[in-house]
Amino acid sequence: MSTVYLVGAGPGDPGMLTLKAKEVIETCDVMIYDYLANADFLHWCKEDCEVLYVGKKGGDHTLPQDKINELIIEKARTGKSVCRLKGGDPYVFGRGGEEAEELVEAGIDFEVVPGITAGVAAPAYAGIPVTHRDHTTSVCFITGHEDPTKEKSGHDWSVYGQSNSTLVFYMGVKNLPMIAENLMKHGRAADTPVALVRWGTRCNQTSMVSTLENVAEDAKARGFKAPSIIVVGGVCSLHDKLGWFEKKPLLGKGVVVTRAREQASGLVKIMRDLGACVYEFPTIAIEPVDNDAEIEEHLLQLGRWDWLVFTSVNGVKHFWNRLEEIGLDSRMLGGIEVAAIGPATADALRERGIIADFVPEKYVAEHVVDGLLKLGVQGKNVLIPRARVAREVLPEELAKAGCNVKVLPVYETRLAEESGETIEEAMALGKINYVTFTSSSTVENFFELVRPETVKGCPEVKIASIGPITASTLSGFGFEADVQPQDYTIPGLVGAILDDA
Ligand code: SAH
Repeated sequence: MSTVYLVGAGPGDPGMLTLKAKEVIETCDVMIYDYLANADFLHWCKEDCEVLYVGKKGGDHTLPQDKINELIIEKARTGKSVCRLKGGDPYVFGRGGEEAEELVEAGIDFEVVPGITAGVAAPAYAGIPVTHRDHTTSVCFITGHEDPTKEKSGHDWSVYGQSNSTLVFYMGVKNLPMIAENLMKHGRAADTPVALVRWGTRCNQTSMVSTLENVAEDAKARGFKAPSIIVVGGVCSLHDKLGWFEKKPLLGKGVVVTRAREQASGLVKIMRDLGACVYEFPTIAIEPVDNDAEIEEHLLQLGRWDWLVFTSVNGVKHFWNRLEEIGLDSRMLGGIEVAAIGPATADALRERGIIADFVPEKYVAEHVVDGLLKLGVQGKNVLIPRARVAREVLPEELAKAGCNVKVLPVYETRLAEESGETIEEAMALGKINYVTFTSSSTVENFFELVRPETVKGCPEVKIASIGPITASTLSGFGFEADVQPQDYTIPGLVGAILDDA
């Protein structure tokens, strides 16, 4: 018999998932998940994992709770390991307790993986510690939306009203006027601070602070809706002083990353750390080329070359992949001088034990040629492992300078199989502020997938280009780069966006 894991997915920030939860997600055979503040983790499921959505959003139940219980038990009985993933913590207003009871009754083993509950995390991201010695001696987690089938309310408002406890309400936005009213009626001062945090810990987090007396009206005026956490008590007065997350420079800014999935992670992480809502939209798919014999022949005779020039991280990666496939390694480069077109390529080489002999100051082909000529590359044998299709300036200029140049295609790029629909929709809704382009092919492919007119019709969308070559490809589509760094690197691009934002 298998095990069912009742797993908490945390409040939304993907970083706020426990290591244990990640392990269960990566290994389970069946994933049964609720409406989550962030469903990005589902990418971690095994390829053959059966992924089932049984979520609830507001009052609309996709599957009633008893059917969810039946489904969990049915799947567990097939001998598979089941991950029952829930937002926040499974035992805090998540009906995890009921599911666990059913499992016990059915004789099925289960484990609980607690998660970070929104009632603690969302306030923390809004600068509100739920306890603080100067303000309160306790904290109380309360549902703002009781089981509608209950005959009598379980709330004892006189207890909430008379304690100095921090009160944290889940699912309470609709009932906010009633909540505030009851608390004042039972003894809480009308000027008690109240905070609302919507979409806590996510890039679209918003918050507001008011008082018991005014909060219902203020929240309505500001259009505060679910999912929000409501915090009542003196601790809310720390919001201004301790707020940190909402000060992130790109918070809420929509940024599209068009790089190939393999290359996107660095840029995606920096952007997320700065608070941006990142839309991963890989326009390029990268594949090894299908010319094993030619590559092998060159790899076996690397010693014939005086210089190896790498023009991209992918070139390095695919070159070494091929080297390893035929049982060779970095020692084959002994005695050969190595150039990298930029710092990221140089880092990729360093990971393979090679310190580049030359990295140009500016990261375009023309500067590489000048630099190499100064290092006396004339008349030498130069091998350039790179993409099948790329700018020919580098090989041509080196040939002109009298080098014996050979381009060795080790990978190729093609248009990614993505639909531009999600991005076009997000643009139309005004959610996109920057589209980042890191090469001419990202530009060309992007406009294969997204219509240029859509972008032109959205005035808040700005175009960020890594450098002049990419910008000139953009101008071919009728776009000017709104943002472009001095330094044609990813950190440079990020800096330029920060300056612009
Ligand atoms: N088990 C979950 C709570 C589920 S009840 C947990 O432990 O967090 C659903 C309610 O949780 C929502 O109505 C809202 O009040 C709150 N909530 C969940 N995620 C939230 C988020 N990211 N920001 C603000 N409130 C959130």
